[in-house]
This record gives sequence, structure tokens and C-alpha cells, in this order.
Amino acid sequence: MAVLADSPAVNAADAGPTPTKSSASHANPDLASRLSVERSDVAFGSRAVSLVDLPAGALFARIATATPGTKAYSSVQVAESAHIELNSELLYCNHSCDPSLVFDMGAMEVRVGEGRALRKGDSLTFFYPSTEWDMAQPFECSCGAEKCLGWIHGAKDIDEQVLGRYYLNEHIVRMLKSRAGEGGAGSAGKPAQ
Ligand SMILES: [Zn+2]
Repeated sequence: MAVLADSPAVNAADAGPTPTKSSASHANPDLASRLSVERSDVAFGSRAVSLVDLPAGALFARIATATPGTKAYSSVQVAESAHIELNSELLYCNHSCDPSLVFDMGAMEVRVGEGRALRKGDSLTFFYPSTEWDMAQPFECSCGAEKCLGWIHGAKDIDEQVLGRYYLNEHIVRMLKSRAGEGGAGSAGKPAQ
């Protein structure tokens, strides 16, 4: 058992927050007051839950602790050929086909999705194909949404009309355009990396 930071059985016996720690152990201290992780022994079963109410479109967290990474189950794509590791509990934001959050990797912000408010207790989720063109580990989605897409591979395998219903990062929009261009005009030569 490596995880010692948060006991799942926290109760209210302790009065009040500890005032100040001079050197913050978390680079994104706000996150701890906004996100709680429900850990599960099932592989990929842990999930992040909101501790706050926020209106649609509001800033939920800045992505402040990211480091360059390679494509993996835990990475997030930020450009055509660049991926980062979040290095924070934002890692526990699972995929949903009807997500509560958007991950804007251009602005390095996590925001509440447009069109619906975030409520305390909501699962914190985002639409993985909004950042991922191709996924290291495709999976069968079990988000339970009415419009669940089923098997999730990444944006490259999803119909553009379906993608059009979602917030998409700019690199995904560019990659869709570039693919459409290749299909249209009898592509010669290799696509640029
Ligand atoms: Zn789904």
C-alpha cells in the first residue's frame, strides 16, 4: 500500500483547517479543496468527485504541475506529437461521453463544461477524444450516458459529426482538418509529422 496521503475514512472530528504550510507540498493547493479521489481496488476504478458547486464554464483548476511525457494510459495529448503527465489528482478524472469538465490543453485549464453547472458529488470527467487522437489503451466505455459511444479509441476513430457535439482541443481540430484534406485531394507523399 503506497497511498498514505488520504485516508478514505476522514471524519469531522478535527476542528478547522491547518492554517499555513510555508512550503506547499502540492503545487496546486486549490485542487485539494475542489477534488476528492474515491479509490477503488478495481483497475482504473478510482474516480474523482467534485467538492464544490461551480457554474457552467467556470475555471475548475489550472494544470500547473504537468511535465512532458510519452503516450500512455496516464498521459494527456497537448499537440500533434506532444503529451504530458498531469502529476496531480486530475489524473483521476475519468472519461465520460457526457462529461462534467473540459481539459483545455492550450490554456492549461480545466473548466466546467458549457451548458451545465457542476454540483458537489458529481463525478469529474472529461471526453478523452477531446485531447487524444489515438489512445495508448482503447477501452469499452461504461459511462452510462444516453449517448455513450461505446468503444473509445481516440478522435481519429470517431465520426466528425459526433465529435462536433463536443468541446475539442485545437490540436484535435487541426488533425481532423488535416485528415479531411488528405482524404479529399488524392494525397501524395507522406503526411508531415
Ligand atoms: Zn460512454
